[in-house]
Amino acid sequence: MDFKDKFIGTLLGTAIGDTLGVPFEGQIREQVIRYFDDFDEFIDKNHNIFRTYSDDTQLTIHTAKAIIRAGGIEEEILIDEFIKWLNDPPIGPGFGCLSSIRKLAEGIPWKSAASNSGGNGTAMRISPIGLFYSNNIEQLKKAASLNSNITHSHPAAEAGARVVASSIAFLLYKDPNKGFSINEFFQTIINVISDKKDRIWEEFIEILNDLQNNLDMDLIDGLKKYAQIGVKPPFYIKSLENKCFVHPYTISTVVCALFIFLKNLDSFKKCIYILPTAGGDTDTCGAIGGSIAGSYFGFKNIPEKLIALVQNSKEIIQLGKELYQVSLR
Ligand SMILES: [Mg+2]
Repeated sequence: MDFKDKFIGTLLGTAIGDTLGVPFEGQIREQVIRYFDDFDEFIDKNHNIFRTYSDDTQLTIHTAKAIIRAGGIEEEILIDEFIKWLNDPPIGPGFGCLSSIRKLAEGIPWKSAASNSGGNGTAMRISPIGLFYSNNIEQLKKAASLNSNITHSHPAAEAGARVVASSIAFLLYKDPNKGFSINEFFQTIINVISDKKDRIWEEFIEILNDLQNNLDMDLIDGLKKYAQIGVKPPFYIKSLENKCFVHPYTISTVVCALFIFLKNLDSFKKCIYILPTAGGDTDTCGAIGGSIAGSYFGFKNIPEKLIALVQNSKEIIQLGKELYQVSLR
């Protein structure tokens, strides 16, 4: 397996999904697909609207840099990288990350600084941890939890970070020409959230089991089913019931991204075109699903024209190489 290729593919996949999703954030899929008959053609004619990635890719880059600096996840260095993000400056940040990291910058310890957000702001930045700790699940769980808890104290955020990191770790070893066992995949991602008695984690496991049983569902029916899965009042959006509008709650975003990925295991391009056009939190659905797809398909299966859309793509490729080098130590 060409792991270096997969490391680069994961980081680029995040950035591509994020970049493609930015222009459509907050729209339902029915509105998004009104712009085009063929998304491929639409990108060619409108690449000027895909100008930038957002906070998802920025915080993924800072997580990767923290690992490279420390040779793993170390609290102080990770926090330092998060604080550096404030000077990037943040692009389209979520409340959970911004409010907590501003407090970290004021010197408030993370246990007090973390917001109680259950949002997807930690699952979206976790891919470097999935790559780096792919052969050590206990360390992966610990690192994913710390990365998440520093900004989000809600159990859904922590669980989502673990699920995405373990998805990436699993797929890193799989050859896209050979496929993998869906059963083994679900066992792996459920296993990382089975070691704590928590009502939200148990609910997440039930939802993942339900997802595994419904993978043959039509794409649109599935998106409607999972778009707000697990979302509780007052966050549930009644007016968007039965619409393709991926909610920014961690569980619903992660489940929608997994659903789209698992239904499109034959092509990176096919997969990455659906993720950021699914409606709702399109950039983060794109980033999370893009990181997962990137770890499976690798750099060599990503079309050149999609890489060309990414701002700083050369730096991201270099970062993937460096993260891979550090992982060999
Ligand atoms: Mg974003």
